[in-house]
Amino acid sequence: MTIMKTYFNAKNDLSFLPREEIIKRQTKLLNQHIRYTREHSAYYRRTLAHLPQKDITIEELAAFPTTSKHDLALYNDEFSAVPEQDVTDICFTSGTTGKPCRIFYTKRDIDRLSYNDMLGFIAAGITPFDKVLLTCTIDCCFIAGLAYYGGVFKLGAAAIRNGLNTLESHAGIIRNEKPGAIVGVPSFLVKLGRYLQEGGMDCSSIRTLVCIGEPVRNRKMELTPLGEKLQAIWPDRFYSTYASSEIATSFTECSARCGGHPPGDLAIVEILDEQGQPVPAGQTGEVTVTPLQVTGMPLIRFRTGDIGFIIDENCSCGRNTLRISPILGRKSQMLKIKGTTLFPNSFFIVLDSIDSIADYYMEVSGSALSDEVELFVAFSRDCADSAQISELLYAKTRLHIPIHTVSEAEAKARIYGSSRKPVRFFDLRENNL
Ligand SMILES: [Zn+2]
Repeated sequence: MTIMKTYFNAKNDLSFLPREEIIKRQTKLLNQHIRYTREHSAYYRRTLAHLPQKDITIEELAAFPTTSKHDLALYNDEFSAVPEQDVTDICFTSGTTGKPCRIFYTKRDIDRLSYNDMLGFIAAGITPFDKVLLTCTIDCCFIAGLAYYGGVFKLGAAAIRNGLNTLESHAGIIRNEKPGAIVGVPSFLVKLGRYLQEGGMDCSSIRTLVCIGEPVRNRKMELTPLGEKLQAIWPDRFYSTYASSEIATSFTECSARCGGHPPGDLAIVEILDEQGQPVPAGQTGEVTVTPLQVTGMPLIRFRTGDIGFIIDENCSCGRNTLRISPILGRKSQMLKIKGTTLFPNSFFIVLDSIDSIADYYMEVSGSALSDEVELFVAFSRDCADSAQISELLYAKTRLHIPIHTVSEAEAKARIYGSSRKPVRFFDLRENNL
């Protein structure tokens, strides 16, 4: 009885209500959020001064100015809406001005994050009876790691915080504790799955993998090569989630696996075109989020820099919120090569599909007119064939890209050397904000 209560009475989850009711409640929460933000955030007091202080509809939000990562970095202190003693957690994003950009969270914000990830875990089929192995870091100011831990805690499940530990260490825990779920980066979960398979381990307890940071599905909801690798090892057991430190909100896939569900009471999501205008469902643009109920650093219309689209159809899981597509790329990583516009992912998808490639990264340089792209590839077996890779890349992109062979150790040092997350895209372009 207790488990069913936790499962279906997840308090304040509007997602299962009829759409009109969700919109009614979202509108109320949006107006509360705008009032709070105008009152407490110096940045919004200043930038919204020209707008009348009256309640709005969700559509009227489009008249408000957007907030970019650059605004957040440039006027960082002005975004804080609470006195310093009310701050519970501080994290840093890389920012765009050269100095780290601070994000403040209050106790209420951390609780909100936990509630958010609890809803995501429920959507992915995790129950209070599960043990959840966390293979992401909780330190290094990584707010998502803390949010996943909070989500497990709030759900009433048991967290195993093994973090960025070795394959051997995770395998030992899986053997002894038989977790029902694992949270981690998909490329790592592929490595872990192969290691467990080679060791002949029984993994039948693991019903759910929550995949963070790397897309496993494309715009048609088909598996990416990385998703195919996961599918081969963990068939139909993985769910993708999307989040960022600034928006303090995550969108997790449900059992239908066709887009992430933003919790109805925590976020309003818009997709904007190049001119900053909202586009209809199905059209691709910049994912822009107004996170509701945030108190430390509330934001209005925050442009995430990530590219995706909205899916406005009823979901078979019974949730009636809009869904967000897999992230198709980052706006800042858009490449312009010989008149063609594309994202690094077009290259990465090809490289992911080649078994002999252990790892890779991309460097982009050049001026505003045309980008110069170079790929650095490490082979796992002694069968380096750059010419074949070059052909496969050409077939997909119609571009000839220089490919350099590096050792696995070199690739690893570059990819994992500078950040808590793997970085495979290095932007050396001039005027790169
Ligand atoms: Zn659903």
